[in-house]
Amino acid sequence: AQERYSSIREQPAKALCGSVVGLHMNAGLMADLPSLGSSGAEGVGLFRTELQFLIRNQMPRRGELSALYSRVMDAAQGKRVAFRTLDIGSDKVLPYMKPNDEPNPALGWRAIRVGLDKPGVLRMQVQALIRAAAGRPLTVMFPFVAQMEEFRAARCEFEKALEREKVLGHPMPETVEVGAMLETPSLGFAPDVFYDEVDFLSIGGNDLKQFFFAADRENERVRRRYDTLNVSFLRFLRQVIDRCEAHNTPLSFCGEDAGRPVEALCLAAMGFRALSMRPASIGPVKHLILRCNLDEVRTVIEEAAARGDQSVRAAVVAYLADVGW
Ligand code: PEP
Ligand code: MG
Repeated sequence: AQERYSSIREQPAKALCGSVVGLHMNAGLMADLPSLGSSGAEGVGLFRTELQFLIRNQMPRRGELSALYSRVMDAAQGKRVAFRTLDIGSDKVLPYMKPNDEPNPALGWRAIRVGLDKPGVLRMQVQALIRAAAGRPLTVMFPFVAQMEEFRAARCEFEKALEREKVLGHPMPETVEVGAMLETPSLGFAPDVFYDEVDFLSIGGNDLKQFFFAADRENERVRRRYDTLNVSFLRFLRQVIDRCEAHNTPLSFCGEDAGRPVEALCLAAMGFRALSMRPASIGPVKHLILRCNLDEVRTVIEEAAARGDQSVRAAVVAYLADVGW
């Protein structure tokens, strides 16, 4: 399928209005890296490090991890890779970790909550990342941050690891960027200083939507019940975009919706300038963005919202039919 889009592979996703949307890919295994070239992705917007933990039957060692992350950076050939620290719990259970008997794992002890309560693994992982970067830029993001203090505590672990590596005489990363994933509505309402403290934010749309609508992403009966293009959800996203713009905080959207062309188009029209998706989606998303005027799409979205439509989808699809998509 990627061959179909090979003629636009090297082109930026520049809409008719002139706005350019950065298209990045999601990855998690070494085997994903060749897609960086074949898809035309600008970088890896989300590297799900837990996949490496999930395919083993015992906890990987620091040396192994650092060799692996170094190979990922080699394969990326200078393109940015946003390494997300371990996101386990909820739907991702490590075979060698005692399962938690929790009634609501999605709302339970997961992701950065585990990382902060049992910091051994987080420390090992950030140390492996720092060693792997050695002289190269390093981008790290923490999953499922629900309040500013969690980000501060995780960042503090990262800074301490940097300091330790320095004392040990290991080469430092050339630059560091430390960000958070916004996956719970609460973080959208964090204090202003949070937006200054994070180097970037990435919206984890899969989880965010689940918590915004209180609809389990794993439950077939409810997971499609609420449209991503629901006006309330878009309004929330718009507020996050506005806050990021006011604080010059780089913002991206990862999560499956970024790879669905109509959703991606609407996200771009709302103001997202970076989307991260599975590699096979980059061609179709770019193909659509190249043919659209984001200002017009934004007007269509605003008019549908003003009319009181529940979702802007019908209006956007009608607009696309008009422009001959
Ligand atoms: C998300 O929640 O949207 C996300 C990108 O992370 P994951 O799907 O791995 O939870
Ligand atoms: Mg998530």
